Amino acid sequence: MKAHDGMYIGGQWRPAAGPDTIAVVNPADEQVIAHVPAGTAEDVDAAVRAAREAFPAWAATPPAERAAGIAALRDVLVARKDEIAETVTAELGAPLALSRTVHAGVPVLVAGSYAELAASYSFEERIGNSTVLLEPVGVVGAITPWNYPLHQVVAKVAPALAAGCTVVLKPAEDTPLTAQLFAEAIHEAGLPAGVFNLVTGLGPVAGQALAAHEGVDLVSFTGSTAVGRQIGATAGAAVKRVALELGGKSANVILPSADLAKAVSVGIANVMSNSGQTCSAWTRMLVHKNQYDEALALAAAAVAKYVPGERVGPLVNAKQQQRVRGYIEKGLAEGARLVAGGPEAPYETGYYVSPTVFADVTWDMTIAQEEIFGPVLSILKYEDEEDALRIANGTVYGLAGAVWAADEAEAVAFARRMDTGQVDINGGRFNPLAPFGGYKQSGVGRELGPHGLSEYLQTKSLQF
Ligand code: NAD
Repeated sequence: MKAHDGMYIGGQWRPAAGPDTIAVVNPADEQVIAHVPAGTAEDVDAAVRAAREAFPAWAATPPAERAAGIAALRDVLVARKDEIAETVTAELGAPLALSRTVHAGVPVLVAGSYAELAASYSFEERIGNSTVLLEPVGVVGAITPWNYPLHQVVAKVAPALAAGCTVVLKPAEDTPLTAQLFAEAIHEAGLPAGVFNLVTGLGPVAGQALAAHEGVDLVSFTGSTAVGRQIGATAGAAVKRVALELGGKSANVILPSADLAKAVSVGIANVMSNSGQTCSAWTRMLVHKNQYDEALALAAAAVAKYVPGERVGPLVNAKQQQRVRGYIEKGLAEGARLVAGGPEAPYETGYYVSPTVFADVTWDMTIAQEEIFGPVLSILKYEDEEDALRIANGTVYGLAGAVWAADEAEAVAFARRMDTGQVDINGGRFNPLAPFGGYKQSGVGRELGPHGLSEYLQTKSLQF
């Protein structure tokens, strides 16, 4: 696969400071498909300098011109969508159909939304005798995970550029090729040199150097809670702004009046999509005790359609495969019952995990509390609505969720009581403008839409 052997800094591909490289592996067949440079603190420093240099001019560029730049970027993402989808499939393992619709498609929507928002957003407001200016925060250090390799990048870079910030990106080590394609798209769109810079490398080396760099004004991180905590501490010590999109353990609450078959089948699809590697996946399904056996039968029938290697891809790497299989073993050891799947890998080659459904899961089991990040669903039984609410809110996370009921108002009443940042009512559609982010340990800050844009702005009040 095509790969750059340098870093994209100051509008050009420059040789990396050090000799080390990272091997990129196709998780479906375990073959090395490319190598990218493993950046060091020196590369990060060069990238931050380029971003700092570009900042004053970009911040002063009229929003309509910034909007035109982001629109041009969106057009390049559209023109290169096949190449993007093939690259995501090669390095993440997602089935090509999913790569086309979601991995290549959603970033186009998000970039398009920020092209419009940059043009229409009010960067100035009047409060009494004051004019409040909404100004760009400065240089953004963006650190992204591998699960949605392009979406996670665009969800940070597009609003940052719309706000007038400049960016240094450190993408996940498993999926750097998609990030390199994104840098090419920035270049092709004609965005000014230095407004976007890319340093590939390892988290504890390049990621840590970026989070700690004194030339970075805001660190925007998506990934595990463990690393997020560390980045939050580093940023806090330097009194630097920080946005954290972390893990989730979201509840899919099926109230007794709901269309059970629909709720179960959409719930299974939600968890199996992207091999379960979605932070907002509804990995705990909550079903009333009187409907529990029927729900298990429906779930078993629905999950049978998710054949590994066809509708379900492998996990991203061997470590994640081992980790997820370990969780399945733990679920069995703690007394949960398998409805489908199990810890055995379905194939000898490729980092596949069998789509797995557990019954008889209680709220305090490890598989009901910790983020598994694989194709694993736990089905829990509740006594009544209060019990359902206690279970739904009974984790340290609060990223997403779902509620199903015959009556929309009944579902909304329940959703209002959930400690979580997003709730889909009766299978509500994805909205690229709706704020996305967590309550509790699922994070700090919001991405997408106008709320996502405001993360990259700071206010200045002028009194008259
Ligand atoms: P991670 O948190 O280790 O990595 C995410 C990003 O942070 C990567 O770019 C990585 O290189 C970087 N990073 C790692 N250590 C760093 C450090 N010390 N300083 C600065 N940057 C650092 O996540 P992972 O290993 O890719 O996945 C582990 C778990 O994280 C998953 O199993 C899952 O539970 C969770 N996860 C959550 C999301 C999400 O969207 N919320 C996405 C991916 C992974």
